[in-house]
Amino acid sequence: MGTQASSEAFKKAQGLIPGGVNSPVRAFSSVGGTPLFITKGEGAYLVDIDKNRYIDFVQSWGPLLFGHRDESIEEAVIEAVRNGLSFGAPTEAETDLAELVVSMFDSIDKVRFVSSGTEAVMSAIRLARGYTGRDDIVKFTGCYHGHSDSLLVQAGSGAATFGNPSSPGVPADFTKHTLLATYNDIKSVEKCFADSSDIACVIIEPIAGNMGLVPADKEFLIQLRELCDANGTLLIYDEVMSGFRASINGAESITGVKPDILTLGKVIGGGMPVGAFGARAEIMAKLSPDGPVYQAGTLSGNPVAMAAGLAALGKLKKNAAVMNTLNARGIRLVKGMKAAAAEFGIEMQIDTRGSMFGFFFNDKPVKNFADASNSDANLFATFHSKMLKEGYYFACSLFETGFISTAITDEMIEDAIKASKRVFKEIAD
Ligand code: PLP
Repeated sequence: MGTQASSEAFKKAQGLIPGGVNSPVRAFSSVGGTPLFITKGEGAYLVDIDKNRYIDFVQSWGPLLFGHRDESIEEAVIEAVRNGLSFGAPTEAETDLAELVVSMFDSIDKVRFVSSGTEAVMSAIRLARGYTGRDDIVKFTGCYHGHSDSLLVQAGSGAATFGNPSSPGVPADFTKHTLLATYNDIKSVEKCFADSSDIACVIIEPIAGNMGLVPADKEFLIQLRELCDANGTLLIYDEVMSGFRASINGAESITGVKPDILTLGKVIGGGMPVGAFGARAEIMAKLSPDGPVYQAGTLSGNPVAMAAGLAALGKLKKNAAVMNTLNARGIRLVKGMKAAAAEFGIEMQIDTRGSMFGFFFNDKPVKNFADASNSDANLFATFHSKMLKEGYYFACSLFETGFISTAITDEMIEDAIKASKRVFKEIAD
């Protein structure tokens, strides 16, 4: 499997684009090797510029629930393009998508569309601060909420503490209102509330996908909800990744614990750049132009992006049972890989939620970022590059989640398990 053309394209890109990529994880830094340059997607497959084909377990980092080039999404996009790319004025498609999204979550009455998950979360935090009149926020170590300044805070040691920026260019003043807590550890959140009486919101990925797949325990979410209510603090679920992926009706439908504000992205745009945030009407009433909290976007609610989102979510709502099929395939994949690894004395921790799957090379259960960080990163890097040679495109970081699309068949899963067995044998030999 040659990758010469990708190597050359990467070299050229590095001269013109920082690191050769437009989003850092794509550079393959944590697994080594050259990122593959892609020419096209076809159903379950990605095709690179060396003409290699890979079964795609990344799915553009989540959005492509129906695989590459889903016919109904493609047709909807083409039809929308023929009417014009952007108007900067309201369209009925925005209301239609809003109606669809609101119908899928009990917790939200109204929704606003933006162009990325980062924007959705940034706006949700501003709304929470505007609504409560408070400044501090609590986030969890290992949860990623996009790259806005106040959320780029270094993972702490586990004890709740005021955050330090994790990137040069973010003034400490911007992150001093961000308190860190430990995922699945309610005591660490209680410590935040003991440290500050000015907490506007607690933001959490209720099904974390950015430290590998680590779902929050139901009991933890119940306690979090109670703590927020007791302190007049809003609870934000960041479901940019897990929304429409872990469950059709959100994490709230799995655990019964509802957020005050919900952020969405990825699948909601069917592969086009869309993010969204929603809440009950009383909170959304604070948002401009109804209320004083400002938020805007030239391309927000873009008609082509709305058409893609409508086609994707419409299809999902009509075929609700598909999530069970996807989950069954994910379970089969990770159980199969775990059994294959065990034959060669390699221990794995595995989990799935809907169409999301995760695995760690770790002999202990993973409940938070510290646990995830104790996984074998070298083994992951070796596994990743060998699976790539077998024709399987897994996310290039152990802290990412895998995704099953409807284009991935049971047979493909079985073949992937067989390939993993060959890889584990090579590693053990
Ligand atoms: N929130 C979560 C949970 C995410 O997983 C991501 C991206 O992966 C974001 C926010 C940021 O979304 P975007 O990359 O679209 O800005």
